[in-house]
Amino acid sequence: MKEFLEELRKILNKDSIIQDKDLIDKYSEDKSTIYKSYPPLVLKPKNLNEIVNIVKLCNKYKISITCWGAGTSVTGSCLVFSEKNIILSLERLNKILEIDTENLIAVVEPGVITYNLKEEVEKVNLFYPPDPASFESSTIGGNVSTNAGGPSTVKYGVTKDYVTGLEVVTGKGEVLKLGGKVIKNSSGYNLKDIFIGSEGTLGIITKIYLKLLPKPENKISVYVTFENIFNLFEATNILFKNSILPSSLEYMDDVVLKYLTKKYNLPDKNAKASIIIDLEDSSEKIMRLYEIFEKVEGFINLYPLDNPVRERDIWNARRSIGEVLKENCSFIGKADISVPRGTLKKVISDIKNLGKKYNIEVACFGHAGDGNIHVNFLFEESLNIKENELLFQMYQIVKKYEGVPSGEHGIGVLKKEILKDFVGENQIIIMKEIKKIFDPNNILNPKKVFD
Ligand SMILES: Cc1cc2nc3c(=O)[nH]c(=O)nc-3n(C[C@H](O)[C@H](O)[C@H](O)COP(=O)(O)OP(=O)(O)OC[C@H]3O[C@@H](n4cnc5c(N)ncnc54)[C@H](O)[C@@H]3O)c2cc1C
Repeated sequence: MKEFLEELRKILNKDSIIQDKDLIDKYSEDKSTIYKSYPPLVLKPKNLNEIVNIVKLCNKYKISITCWGAGTSVTGSCLVFSEKNIILSLERLNKILEIDTENLIAVVEPGVITYNLKEEVEKVNLFYPPDPASFESSTIGGNVSTNAGGPSTVKYGVTKDYVTGLEVVTGKGEVLKLGGKVIKNSSGYNLKDIFIGSEGTLGIITKIYLKLLPKPENKISVYVTFENIFNLFEATNILFKNSILPSSLEYMDDVVLKYLTKKYNLPDKNAKASIIIDLEDSSEKIMRLYEIFEKVEGFINLYPLDNPVRERDIWNARRSIGEVLKENCSFIGKADISVPRGTLKKVISDIKNLGKKYNIEVACFGHAGDGNIHVNFLFEESLNIKENELLFQMYQIVKKYEGVPSGEHGIGVLKKEILKDFVGENQIIIMKEIKKIFDPNNILNPKKVFD
């Protein structure tokens, strides 16, 4: 480490090398809060050249690099597990380089906060749709590395659907320019996409080209209540059959509502399920929604959120579910599963039955439009054996319905075993072979995604 540091000082300014334990504290855990460990160093490079030199030096001394966007990962993908593992923070690469209004493309550095990009493009009447709930703090680089999604996925897709180009530094220190401002690209193997969702294990993303859309007009939101979650899914299926494609369909079950209504003033306090629906269409659609839902068994009421304050309050309640659940129970076993949309009813029913078997409350919420369920087993206290057993059985349900272990948060360290169980040894071997091509010395975010 001593010689490494000496060489490092030749390529980075003093203020880019953080060794002070107090300053490193911020980088000792991500939002998974499963583990706290201090990297020996945090590096804050200012440009591509510095990053290339850091990677080359790390290869020479076999020092591992874990990238840090904003550390909002909930899977432990930003954690370090060795004294020879440094953190490379992208926070100083935080410029929006260009908003190209002719080509409808934004070119950004990885450390740009997602919210800031959304705000900037809206100023020129454009729209960047991906909206993970963490968008006020997470970075575009982190979003690309986890292929983040959010409520708007039902209509607009996930981060991957907007990345037209990437600049990456591989584990060998090579700079790859993959794609660019072009929307269509059928030119050989699609290497760009292999980096999306790779959680910093294949390369360091240093520049991102993102597709933009014209800003939609007339967004309206409604809050709809039901007697149970199964009636709610029935209702959302009928929407699609009536050619209505909302831009969000955020559902909450009875357990979520039980805790949320303690803190927030939500309509119909006795409702056992509710959904926030965003529509980007004419206001007559609200009348049509009402006519459609009225015929659905268990429908209670529909509330147009035409007052911006009311709309913001309901969305704030939705975004705070994780916090509210945490305030109300001592330990939560969490999952971010994704299943074929049409199986949501069956999957949630099986998961609720599993909770009953173990006498544990299960709170489910998520995105009805894309089949993503945030499952929360609410434990009275941390009982690891029960948690693992429960989660294992839950993942068997997901498998039965041909779902996947993560819809948006990624694998990190928490779901490595589960990933292997889902995809099988052969696919893990292929992933390892791919990693070897880009990172032969295994210095990029080791022990993540697979062992
Ligand atoms: C309250 C809350 C709500 C959330 N809601 C959502 C949600 O709705 N949807 C969703 O998808 N996720 C959600 N997340 C998870 C998290 O915010 C996302 O995974 C996000 O994309 C991570 O961004 P980040 O900038 O914080 O990246 P980090 O957490 O810093 O990093 C995530 C991973 O990407 C790697 N990485 C970061 N930057 C780079 C880079 N430039 N090059 C290579 N690798 C890099 C890191 O090494 C790590 O493996 C939520 C988290 C919290 C705490």
